[in-house]
Amino acid sequence: MSSVQSYVFEPAPTPAIPVIGQQARFPVRRIYCVGRNYAAHAREMGKDPDREPPFFFMKPADAIVPGGGEVKYPPGTADLHHEIELVVALHRGGRNIAAADALEHVYGYAVGLDLTRRDLQSEAKKAGRPWDFGKSFDQSAPVTAIYPVVTHGHHAVGKITLAVNGEVRQQGDLSEMIWSVPETIAYLSRYYLIEPGDLIFTGTPAGVGAVVPGDKLVGKVEDLAELNVEIVA
Ligand code: MN
Repeated sequence: MSSVQSYVFEPAPTPAIPVIGQQARFPVRRIYCVGRNYAAHAREMGKDPDREPPFFFMKPADAIVPGGGEVKYPPGTADLHHEIELVVALHRGGRNIAAADALEHVYGYAVGLDLTRRDLQSEAKKAGRPWDFGKSFDQSAPVTAIYPVVTHGHHAVGKITLAVNGEVRQQGDLSEMIWSVPETIAYLSRYYLIEPGDLIFTGTPAGVGAVVPGDKLVGKVEDLAELNVEIVA
């Protein structure tokens, strides 16, 4: 009997993201996303931002589009929205992580888009149904390379912006997050066993809106990175 694991067909490759300064890539395990983490965005979505606990949804790991580039307009929607976000990449796991220890779990940071089929998300909200069809579709998570903490530090302050065809649509500052990165990791780790390879999309500032095929998106986090995406038919 062979000790080598075999499969009935070739398994899908591990989704992975380039790392600045490394040949090796960052293997993605799970993608957690924080909802409504900037007060002005919570308000534009019709919610009171005041200290409701954070809430989360997930995307499949293979929803990443490493390095950005072309993203196909997804099926089933007529209202694809951009949400520019700081992405946290974790290299250390744990349960019940204290906020004071949380940053030790961070490998690096990236800039990502939480692409959203807003019409499907809105229908789901109204019907009290899960958000998966609105949030967790193929290519719904374009993301830049990861900038390691050891060479590029942490990012708790800095402008976060998104322009579409050269026009700024979203802007905010990382310091405006309702739940900081350490608080988010701490909260999440009370409900899930965090593992190396997990990503956290940390929420989007105000100004979300629709894109159509042909649109060119440039997302930036100051002192971190720029994500370029083109929506194609
Ligand atoms: Mn989002």
